[in-house]
Amino acid sequence: MRKIEFFRHSISKDDIKRVNNILKSLFLTTGEEVEKFEQKFSNYIGKRYTIGLTSCTAALHLSLIALGIGPGDEVITTPLSFCATANAILHAGARPVFVDVEEETGNLNAEFIEPAITEKTKAIIPVHLYGQMCDMKNIKKIAKQYNLKIIEDAAHAIEASRDGIRVGQLSDTACFSFYATKNITSGEGGAVITDSVTLAEALRMLRLHGINKDAAERYTKHYQHWDMLTLGWKYNMANIHAALLIGQLARIESLWRKRNRLWNIYEEGLKKIKDIRLLKTLPNLKHARHLFTVLVPPKKRDFLLWALQERGIGVAVNYRPIHLLGYYQKTFGYKIGDFPITEEIGEMTISLPLYPSLTKDEVKYIVKTLKDELNK
Ligand SMILES: *Cc1c(COP(=O)(O)O)cnc(C)c1O
Repeated sequence: MRKIEFFRHSISKDDIKRVNNILKSLFLTTGEEVEKFEQKFSNYIGKRYTIGLTSCTAALHLSLIALGIGPGDEVITTPLSFCATANAILHAGARPVFVDVEEETGNLNAEFIEPAITEKTKAIIPVHLYGQMCDMKNIKKIAKQYNLKIIEDAAHAIEASRDGIRVGQLSDTACFSFYATKNITSGEGGAVITDSVTLAEALRMLRLHGINKDAAERYTKHYQHWDMLTLGWKYNMANIHAALLIGQLARIESLWRKRNRLWNIYEEGLKKIKDIRLLKTLPNLKHARHLFTVLVPPKKRDFLLWALQERGIGVAVNYRPIHLLGYYQKTFGYKIGDFPITEEIGEMTISLPLYPSLTKDEVKYIVKTLKDELNK
C-alpha cells in the first residue's frame, strides 16, 4: 500500500550543514545566527524589526503584553483557528471575543467585528486561515475608527499578500510559526514583526525575562552586569533553530511554487465532484498555500478521515471550533449554534497532504481515493 504522510519537511543537506556549524561553534542559544535570521526575515517581509521566538503562541502572547493588553480587556478573534490564538489572549489575562467567519473563505468576517466591539475591546487578532489573508484594509479601517490594536496571526501566511498589502503591513505586530508542519520549520519556533522601535525593544526584553541584555551581550567578550526591568518570559529563539530556518527562508518562494502547482492539481481534480465543496481563493491576492482543505458532507466526514488513513493517506482537521473545545465550553458557557458558519466548516473539513516533496502522482492518487470513498 502507498504511504503518503500528512506532512514532510523540506530540510536540505545545506540546512543540516548550517546547523552542524552551529553545533560545532561555541554559542548554541540566542546570538549572531538569530540576528542573521531576524535581519533576513525582516527583509523578506518588508518590516523593520523581527524578534525570533520559540513559538507563534509566544509571539501572540508577547504582542498582547507589549501592547498593554491584559485583565479586563477584550480581544476580538475567530473561533476557526488553532486554540493557540485564543489561548494567547487568556495567557495575557484578557478575554477572547469570537466573531463568526466568511462562508467562502473561512476567514474572520470583518462585517461582524463592529457589532462585537464594547468599551473593553482593545485589539483584533485576525488569522489568515490556510494562507489566505483576511480583509486587512477593512479590518484596519475599523481598528482606526475604534482605536484598536491589530495583531495578525500569520502562522499560515508568511508568503501572503492581498490588495497590494503584504502580511504584517497594516498591523501593530504580526506573528509567525515555525512549528513542525508549517511552511518553513525549525521543529518549534516563531517570530514577531513590527515597524515600531518601542514595541521591538519591549518584545526583545519580554522574550528573555525582562532582562536588558541578552546572553550574547552578557557573555561574549567580557561579562557585563545586567538588570531585570520588567517581568518577562523565556521565549528566545536559539541559534540552532535560526540556522535551520535561514536556508529555508532563502528557498521560500520556490517551495511556495511547488505547493501552488500541487494546489492547482487538487482543485482541478476535485472541483467537479458533487459532494465536495472547496473554499474560494479570492482575486487580487497571493495565497500562501499552507493547508489544502476540502469540505465534505458532515455525515461522511469522520468516515472519510478513517478511510483515507486506511488507504495510507495522512489527514488532519483544521479546525474543530475553539469555542466548542471542552475548556472553552466549561469556562465561558459556549454552546453549539453560537458561531454557525465556523461550526459548519468544523464539521465538514478535511486537510489533505500539501508540501513541496509531494508528487503530482500522489495528489492524483489522493483525489481518486477521495472520490472512490465518497461514493461508497
Ligand atoms: C500553528 C499555529 C499557531 C501556533 O503556533 P506555534 O508556533 O505552535 O505556537 C497559532 N495559530 C495558528 C493559526 C497556527 O496554525
